[in-house]
Amino acid sequence: MSLHPDWQESADVVVIGTGVGGLAAALAAHRAGRRVVLLSKAGRTPGGTATHYAQGGIAVVLPDNDDSVDAHVADTLAAGAGLCDPDAVTSIVADGYRAVTELVSAGARFDESSSGGWALSREGGHTRRRIVHANGDATGAEVQRALDHATDTLDIRTKHTALQLLQDAGSVTGVLVANRQGIGLIHAPSVILATGGLGHLYSATTNPEGSTGDGIALALWAGIAVSDIEFIQFHPTMLFDGTAGRGPGKRRPLVTEAIRGEGAFLVDSQGNSVTAGVHPMGDLAPRDVVASAIDARLRATGEPCVFLDARGIADFKRRFPTVTASCRAAGVDPITQPIPVVPGAHYSCGGVVTDVHGQTELPGLFAAGEVARTGMHGANRLASNSLLEGLVVGGRAGKAAAAHAVDSGPVRAGTAEIVARTALVRGDLQRAMSRDASVVRDADGLYGLIDTLSAAPLAAVVTRAGLEDAALTATARALAAAALAREESRGCHHRTEYPDAAGTPARSLVVRLAADDSAQVETLAAVC
Ligand SMILES: Cc1cc2nc3c(=O)[nH]c(=O)nc-3n(C[C@H](O)[C@H](O)[C@H](O)COP(=O)(O)OP(=O)(O)OC[C@H]3O[C@@H](n4cnc5c(N)ncnc54)[C@H](O)[C@@H]3O)c2cc1C
Repeated sequence: MSLHPDWQESADVVVIGTGVGGLAAALAAHRAGRRVVLLSKAGRTPGGTATHYAQGGIAVVLPDNDDSVDAHVADTLAAGAGLCDPDAVTSIVADGYRAVTELVSAGARFDESSSGGWALSREGGHTRRRIVHANGDATGAEVQRALDHATDTLDIRTKHTALQLLQDAGSVTGVLVANRQGIGLIHAPSVILATGGLGHLYSATTNPEGSTGDGIALALWAGIAVSDIEFIQFHPTMLFDGTAGRGPGKRRPLVTEAIRGEGAFLVDSQGNSVTAGVHPMGDLAPRDVVASAIDARLRATGEPCVFLDARGIADFKRRFPTVTASCRAAGVDPITQPIPVVPGAHYSCGGVVTDVHGQTELPGLFAAGEVARTGMHGANRLASNSLLEGLVVGGRAGKAAAAHAVDSGPVRAGTAEIVARTALVRGDLQRAMSRDASVVRDADGLYGLIDTLSAAPLAAVVTRAGLEDAALTATARALAAAALAREESRGCHHRTEYPDAAGTPARSLVVRLAADDSAQVETLAAVC
């Protein structure tokens, strides 16, 4: 369907997304003297980004303690289970301290220790204390606040949804956008995808409502490669409030691991331990192990949740005020009742393939933050490495996009078409994904999922809701194809028929969409 746009504009750099990746990029492009337009499909109120909800902190090597870049790199590679790109990890980790101090210059304040200097915490998989945090467990809100403040004079358009990337002669030329005025075009030689994650592929997620895989779908539709997309990190204990699967768009609170660290234990409705005999560390086993154990118990019992019994923890309300408030809002008193929990989709380790400057394979198109696959996370993300990556690669992508805009000059104002995309009804898609491509997968389930996805009807994509449903469907197709092709268990991808990692060298899989919207899987060269 040909388009008669309701409005048209131009810019040097368009940034899609206002979380850590997008704001760091926009700031750098603006400082390089370029005319930047930022788009967010969310409104002005806080909470439209995953960045806002980050809790633990930012992993960073400080120059003056017993830590080292080599040690942080080694921890990251170990978590990534053979699929990280060591050069990318080294480049990003080595730039972390500079990026965090720049954020402090922009106004961020991190918690300090009694002896002065930043208070550093340690998280799972880290061999050193290297996590800086703010206001206890509210790091993301502080990062978002500081970046919002630093960019408040920039041209930020809220309630603007990017629907499609424009390209001409093998380069990006802008974005098709829906807003209150209708559908318009922003012409620009550089576009940065910073659209965040994809948690709403599943019925239950810790992600905010906008995490619908839009950037991955925009890239797939533009013929761009996506990689490591089968590696979804599930958090084992997300609060279950009885509504999972009944309606899209809801963000569900985390019930922090620290509660298990203080002695809380996981049981089913009959009071049987969920993790007994599964792992020597029991309830404190790694996240993917505990999530798999809960998933297995739910499948065996047919029940909707298991329970975290924290009634033995003294002074619970003072120690865990955020969890107490979330539980009480859901009608559960954690001091007198076990907390109902389920595993929830938490983080996308893969995404749009980029280098460490955010450059994708399409000239002028960059990606940064959770939407990107730089090679930093491999098959499993190390805790608190994502804000770090968003800050570092976001800043670099902004600079690279600014330079590209200068080199290529203004683009010719082209036209666009309204394209029909396949889109499954959101609830149906989430149920199918939660059943067949969740914590544990097998070939039968994945083939069934691929059949379900290929039966999705076509619909013209002209609104935010329409774009999100189509984006979720395209992203699900890519994920299902990669999960089926990966005949092994590695990192956070678990296949029941292949419980171990394959003996052959680890390789990342690349997915592209074919003209009929089916997902084609290729193999990326071995990286380790
Ligand atoms: C509960 C929780 C706790 C976490 N804790 C930590 C932690 O302690 N440490 C850590 O390192 N990481 C943590 N993470 C992960 C980390 O917060 C995210 O990976 C990171 O913040 C993502 O930043 P981003 O800029 O890529 O995306 P986001 O912050 O999610 O921003 C995405 C932006 O894109 C916009 N957008 C999306 N699609 C479109 C579209 N089509 N058109 C226009 N705009 C669009 C959205 O409106 C939004 O502005 C946590 C995540 C969650 C959910």
